[in-house]
Amino acid sequence: MAIHKVLIANRGEIALRIHRACHEMGIQTVAVHSTADTDAMHVRLADHAVCIGPPPAAESYLNVPNIIAAAEISGADAIHPGYGFLSENARFAEIVESHNIIWIGPKPEHIRTMGDKIEAKTTAAKLGLPLVPGSDGPLTDIAEAKRVAAEIGYPVLIKAASGGGGRGMKVVPSEDQLESLMQQAGSEAKAAFGDATVYMEKYLGNPRHIEFQIFGDGKGNAIHLGERDCSLQRRHQKVLEEAPSPVITAEQRAEMGGIVAKAMADMGYRGAGTIEFLYEDGRFYFIEMNTRLQVEHPVTEAITGVDLVREQIMIADGLPLSVRQDELEFRGHAIECRINAENPRTFAPSPGLVKGFHAPGGMHVRVDSGLYAGYRVPPYYDSMIAKLIVWGRDREGCIRRLKRALEEFVVDGVTTTIPLHQALLDDPEFREGDYTIKWLEQWLAEQEA
Ligand code: ADP
Repeated sequence: MAIHKVLIANRGEIALRIHRACHEMGIQTVAVHSTADTDAMHVRLADHAVCIGPPPAAESYLNVPNIIAAAEISGADAIHPGYGFLSENARFAEIVESHNIIWIGPKPEHIRTMGDKIEAKTTAAKLGLPLVPGSDGPLTDIAEAKRVAAEIGYPVLIKAASGGGGRGMKVVPSEDQLESLMQQAGSEAKAAFGDATVYMEKYLGNPRHIEFQIFGDGKGNAIHLGERDCSLQRRHQKVLEEAPSPVITAEQRAEMGGIVAKAMADMGYRGAGTIEFLYEDGRFYFIEMNTRLQVEHPVTEAITGVDLVREQIMIADGLPLSVRQDELEFRGHAIECRINAENPRTFAPSPGLVKGFHAPGGMHVRVDSGLYAGYRVPPYYDSMIAKLIVWGRDREGCIRRLKRALEEFVVDGVTTTIPLHQALLDDPEFREGDYTIKWLEQWLAEQEA
């Protein structure tokens, strides 16, 4: 292999996840960290560690010159960006490659295409993916907006072309509100993203969020690894994910999976990617593609047995995909709970000293976390402190094992969302798999009432 030493441009559980894959492959690791993360587990375990700046991410984990310098002085021959931070920054990927460092990620032009929501939709349509009906491109004048809305039917959704994290979206119930809401969306988008461009989609009333994991070798071959159901969201943030989706049949998986894999093969896509769909009344509607590893990737690993980070590294090294589509089997059921250092009712962040820590164990129980007793959760970053991933022969068995694992989980000193997951798992509708993207927020409101 060409890759001997990987710089991990990230922190927390995902930095540890990448470190583990590297060491299993005999590859050395370089941790980069801010001054707030000197005692972090990924820094302790890595073969080399380089401090790249003060706590604010803009000055450390997003500090491109310092990260490149860290790669050069430590002799890293590849960079893995994890998720978030620089993972979907096409310019960063180009800078990495221009320094003759291997970028463990997709081709920069594909990151760029999929990062622009309108271009992503145009590309997806050309590749044969089903879209949400809407404007074919940016919306400029109100007459055209009225014409498109009348054609697709109200309610419609105005979205920002440069949007992200669910921001810059407006639901328009009827024509009399179209003009003012379109103007609002445009000025909000301008303020948040520096780009006032908006487009229109039909507003789906009660869909599920279903995404397909794909892998391409960059040479015209691609596979899909099935879907994940990520409908349980609060403020567009995923809370719990499962694979397979409780509502998707093997036939639907094979059909839609085949369509996305062919699209990625035609595109010449390289590395890991996720194609996100809304799913309503038996139909899929493409919303976006993420050109990186996802937080929830372990549920796919649990049901396929494929190590997705290892696969990313092998592909970046120029090796072929390790499995063929017809060799892939989807076995049993897996669920991931995202455990955050937050108040489980108000969701206020709860950083601070972890006084005691005990992770659950036993058969088919996986905990991805950098936590240990004596660790101080810094206030500067995302509040996710652990992921609990459990596998079972079927969904019912998976839920029973997950409840058992949550009972064992101890985090002393900071409040966590463990009690929220426990309550969720006892809910009859959740146990039936009967939920959509609206469900969790309604459920949370009912708990408060
Ligand atoms: P962002 O990049 O801002 O997260 P997405 O396009 O991924 O934007 O949409 C975020 C969320 O907004 C989706 O997960 C879904 O909950 C909701 N959403 C997006 N498009 C639609 C639509 N056409 N109809 C209904 N809900 C939608």
